[in-house]
Amino acid sequence: MRYVFMVYILGAGIAGLSLATALSRVGIRWCILEKEHEIGLYASGKNAGIIRTYETDPVIRHYAEQTLAIYRAEEPGFTECGLIIKPWDIDYSLENAERRAFTHGRDEGYLLPQNGTLSAKAVLARLLAAAKAGGGVSFGFDADLEIHESRLVALKNKAGNDNLSLTPADAVVIASGEGALQHAAALRRPLGLVAHRRNLYEYANVTGYTGPVEWNEETSCYFRADGKLLVATAGEQIPHGAGVAVDKAEVVPQHLVTLAREYPLLAERNLTGWRTCLRVMPADNRPYCGADTQVKNLWWFAGLGGRGMSLAPALAAELAHQLAGNQPTGNFAAQLSPDRAELF
Ligand SMILES: Cc1cc2nc3c(=O)[nH]c(=O)nc-3n(C[C@H](O)[C@H](O)[C@H](O)COP(=O)(O)OP(=O)(O)OC[C@H]3O[C@@H](n4cnc5c(N)ncnc54)[C@H](O)[C@@H]3O)c2cc1C
Repeated sequence: MRYVFMVYILGAGIAGLSLATALSRVGIRWCILEKEHEIGLYASGKNAGIIRTYETDPVIRHYAEQTLAIYRAEEPGFTECGLIIKPWDIDYSLENAERRAFTHGRDEGYLLPQNGTLSAKAVLARLLAAAKAGGGVSFGFDADLEIHESRLVALKNKAGNDNLSLTPADAVVIASGEGALQHAAALRRPLGLVAHRRNLYEYANVTGYTGPVEWNEETSCYFRADGKLLVATAGEQIPHGAGVAVDKAEVVPQHLVTLAREYPLLAERNLTGWRTCLRVMPADNRPYCGADTQVKNLWWFAGLGGRGMSLAPALAAELAHQLAGNQPTGNFAAQLSPDRAELF
């Protein structure tokens, strides 16, 4: 069994904060190093907060179902409003699911009654409060990796002069979201991570809609209720350069036309705002969650793509289990190992 003295987690997004919670549960000491001076500036603070378990990939579905169970038990802000999905193609696992019409009435999908929504910002804030009490978050630490003889020996702060020396018993987890693209490039690790920008649009919820999320995979559009707002995307993926923070959202007029066509509640006159962020994903769309195969004390928790909120708590529990010296739990966990990237 490998003894881990301290785990340094790079990044305080949903991945890093969930991992901190999971490590506390297995009694491992940790410290989060976060580049920015606050949380929520990237995908974890800007996403749609939809928790969905419908997945064609059985590995992803497994962790999405586990995560849903965690949120239902532990997340006070989780709203079990249900989700209507019209999948790409016939999925026999949905055969017995109830059919439900979309609000436009032209079409219908399958109802997943236990799926729902949460406020991404509220989840992050709750996890951060727990993290501050349980281990610690060091803000303003833009971590660079120093390797000697296949081992991480130090973390350097690109934003300051701090230099954190590591003992051989320390582990480092890259949970840096889009920052993982830069970490992978610096390490010359061929992880095949790609970043896509996605826009979210906010509309006034003029009818007070509180019903299910409506998700049409054929048109790549969804919307959810979020109190006084309806949050929607028209799905188009916009390729984006690696490691560049997205801080300026621009309306794509075609998105508004598509959303108005898909959902009668999303008339352009009700548009109140918009935001954008990056989805960072590996070529096979499965997150990296496991030990690096070349650098001994390095681990990855990255490439959560468009499912980070729906997967992070369960994946974090699995990663904490491995950091505690255990083998990956079953075949699903083994398939999240970064070593599969060599095949891409
Ligand atoms: C438009 C959009 C909508 C989405 N909607 C949903 C949804 O409804 N449901 C769902 O499940 N998922 C959704 N997602 C996906 C989800 O938001 C992401 O998968 C998830 O937030 C990624 O979390 P993360 O912690 O890996 O990365 P991030 O949120 O990017 O966090 C990484 C953190 O690492 C820090 N960092 C970066 N570099 C360094 C460094 N060198 N040193 C230290 N810290 C560093 C960053 O500052 C940041 O705080 C959506 C994504 C997008 C773009």
